[in-house]
Amino acid sequence: MTPTIPDELAKNYDPATIEGPWYDRWYDMGYFTALIDPEKKPFVVIMPPPNVTGELHMGHALFVAVEDILSRWHRMHGTPTLWLPGADHAGIAGQWVVERELAKNGLTRQDLGRELFLENVWEWMDLYRSRILSQLRTLGASCDWTRFHFTMDPGPSRAVRAAFKRLYDKGLIYRGERLINWCPRCMTALSDLEVDHEEVQGSIWTLRYPITGSDEYIEVATTRPETMLGDTAVAVHPDDERYRHLVGRFVTLPILGRQLPIVADAAVDPGFGTGAVKVTPAHDPNDFEIGRRHTLPMINVMNLDGTMNDAAGQFSGQSTQEARKNVVAVLDEEGFLVEVHEHTHSVGRCQRCGTIVEPMISKQWFIEMKPLAEPAIEVAKNGTVRFVPERFKGTYLHWMENIHDWCISRQLWWGHRIPVWYCDCGEIVVTDQETVQQCPKCGGTHLEQDPDVLDTWFSSGLWTFSTLGWPDDTEDLRYFYPGSVMETGYDILFFWVARMIFFGIEFMGEAPFHTVYLHGTVRDELGQRMSKTKGNVIDPTVITREFGSDALRFTLITAGAPGADMKLSEQRVEANRNFGTKIWNATRYVLRAIESGSIARAADGTPLAPVASDMTLADRWILSKLERLTADIEDLFANYQLGEAGRRIYEFLWSEYCDWYIESTKVVLNGEDEATRTTARQTLVYILERSLRLLHPFMPFLTEELWQHLPHSGDSIMIAPWPEADETRIDAQAVNEYEFMMEAVRAVRNARAETGVDAGAWISAMIYPGSHAETFQSLEPVFSLLARVGKGRFEYREAQLEAPQAVVTLVIDDAIIYLPLAGMVDLDAERERLRKEIEQVEEEIARAGQLLSNENFTSRAPAEVVDRQRERMSSSQERLALLQARLGELAG
Ligand SMILES: [Zn+2]
Ligand SMILES: [Zn+2]
Repeated sequence: MTPTIPDELAKNYDPATIEGPWYDRWYDMGYFTALIDPEKKPFVVIMPPPNVTGELHMGHALFVAVEDILSRWHRMHGTPTLWLPGADHAGIAGQWVVERELAKNGLTRQDLGRELFLENVWEWMDLYRSRILSQLRTLGASCDWTRFHFTMDPGPSRAVRAAFKRLYDKGLIYRGERLINWCPRCMTALSDLEVDHEEVQGSIWTLRYPITGSDEYIEVATTRPETMLGDTAVAVHPDDERYRHLVGRFVTLPILGRQLPIVADAAVDPGFGTGAVKVTPAHDPNDFEIGRRHTLPMINVMNLDGTMNDAAGQFSGQSTQEARKNVVAVLDEEGFLVEVHEHTHSVGRCQRCGTIVEPMISKQWFIEMKPLAEPAIEVAKNGTVRFVPERFKGTYLHWMENIHDWCISRQLWWGHRIPVWYCDCGEIVVTDQETVQQCPKCGGTHLEQDPDVLDTWFSSGLWTFSTLGWPDDTEDLRYFYPGSVMETGYDILFFWVARMIFFGIEFMGEAPFHTVYLHGTVRDELGQRMSKTKGNVIDPTVITREFGSDALRFTLITAGAPGADMKLSEQRVEANRNFGTKIWNATRYVLRAIESGSIARAADGTPLAPVASDMTLADRWILSKLERLTADIEDLFANYQLGEAGRRIYEFLWSEYCDWYIESTKVVLNGEDEATRTTARQTLVYILERSLRLLHPFMPFLTEELWQHLPHSGDSIMIAPWPEADETRIDAQAVNEYEFMMEAVRAVRNARAETGVDAGAWISAMIYPGSHAETFQSLEPVFSLLARVGKGRFEYREAQLEAPQAVVTLVIDDAIIYLPLAGMVDLDAERERLRKEIEQVEEEIARAGQLLSNENFTSRAPAEVVDRQRERMSSSQERLALLQARLGELAG
């Protein structure tokens, strides 16, 4: 169904009444769907798939704004544009949400069993998915919904199995015992990203271990005394003189009596504590590495639920807290405890449930990273993949060069199940099929699938091609891979972006995009992170309901720069809604103006540019400004400076077009000259129609509504051509002259404000035009109206006034405007004002003088910069002379 556009533009800008209907219309017209055109290179952005269980937050709003702007800009350029949307099953977060729902009815996932639990999860997912997707739509996301993918859909799931099998067959996937982050409540391994670290106040215990066969002791310190039960060595630095004689000997572990070797390892910091450390390879990441280097046994003293196991001897079955208290008591009793101090240290908590995470030895699946990392490092180094902002390239390289093997298994039910099957005969079958019916070795049919699922980043890493049909050779894959830009938050540069790069190279033979654009986080107006506990969250759905998506998008884009965090406040969004209102009102003005005359249009209906010979100075000025803007925006877009592009359009429309040009036309349109009136109407509509197209990617709804009411060509601004700059239309002289007039108006306005003259009152003026006589002549009516001086008539002077009476004197370049505010001016105040201005100009002269006497500057800066500085110097000196003369005249 196509909504009809009312003939008349509504009186007021009300985003709520236009945004929804326009989105539906674009969708119905199929404008979001990417079409394959073999003649053209497409523009492709793959959306970072939001977590399906997530609620729309400002991070989403920001990425939608950036990616939608880029997509709309390319689409208007006529480039086949694919913005591919998706949703992520969210692994542990997804499972946790459903478990929480079950808990409301007193149920656990174990109560339901795997199959029933997963049925439950799917029902919830459908519900969540439609919610998050409709929220994305309210933001105006012009993504191709016909190519939407969910990570758990059959296609991407098959890609996951195929990728796993290929890596396994290549020997890059292996199963091994490693130390991982373990949540004893969720009973799963966690990635580093899923662990929150916090500083806590705890204690540090110094223990002494007796050297075997001697009466010496060695002291070690620990924040977790219960783990001493799993100690398998004591380590010291190889250069530490204090302990050199002990290396190679043994200590007797208190309580358990085990013999532990004393080893030398360079990772030990001799300056920390006693310089000797206990080594617990099964429960500490650093100790794990020391253990590997010295092939120490790994003794796990904990059960998966976090209680102590049989290896903990008499403490078996106790919680870590109980065991800690009891171990310390025994050590103290037996004389092995030296001292206890307060100590702040970092503790990791499960991001889902808050339980303290245990480093734990466990049998997991891993990907060997080195062979995958190497080509991924190369593409960043040789510029095949470029980072915006550039500094993130260093971060990326640092990570990739220090990469560890990746633990890809998770002890969850929700996710892509590991495609490994175990037969009774001991055979391990890795498959890209959904199931395995028969063992290829023994022919047996009793096979069990690995119970674990894959880390969500495994499927996310394949996202740039699994969504295009891989492992099949599809038309989409051939045309849209590799994509163009990957746009995401810098916080997942490693977790996601790096994985897409190395998987892309591994499976597709080339990196999946040429540019990585990283945005910052959205913070509150004080620069604090938004959080529910702080109560400073600005909810995008609430704010768009009040001010519109256009205003929110515009705010998010113009408030920031790539890679930088930004501050967001409701007032800023409101201010940008007011920007919308300003353009709305300007359009209403233009529509009224063109009612009274016809508009020249091209064959396709687009308003034509005004005829050059008929243009006034104001027309030439605004047209020059538009062409300059159009050219600059193109450059800014090409360099991903979207925020600056938005700010420039804002400045142009609000100030130059609305505040100056439209005001100028009020004089003309009320005048008698039909030719000038026609040109003004033509200019008004031509500039507005084109600038709406420039603004469209930023504020899609508002611009569409207004554009539809103006003379235009085509069915939608969304598919209208992007304006091309015609720099031959830039008239530098017109720009200079008009801007001289603007400066004069501002000077008069300031003077009126300073002397307390009512803003609406007409005052008279005498003008010594200096070299600007022609400008004054041609812009006289405009100047008069905007500055409210002279009522359209001026008294021009051939020379500067000899003995001015009580006047305010304004010096603009070499022109002088005298405002004889008889009876309204306080002479003392006027003298004070002149003195201040003289001071300012003197400072300017001093600054310029300093620069020009600097050998470094004059010899090294580009010639035109130095020349400009010289010009500025001499014009400031002229100005100073004039101001001093005026002050002298008032002295009497
Ligand atoms: Zn947990
Ligand atoms: Zn078998």
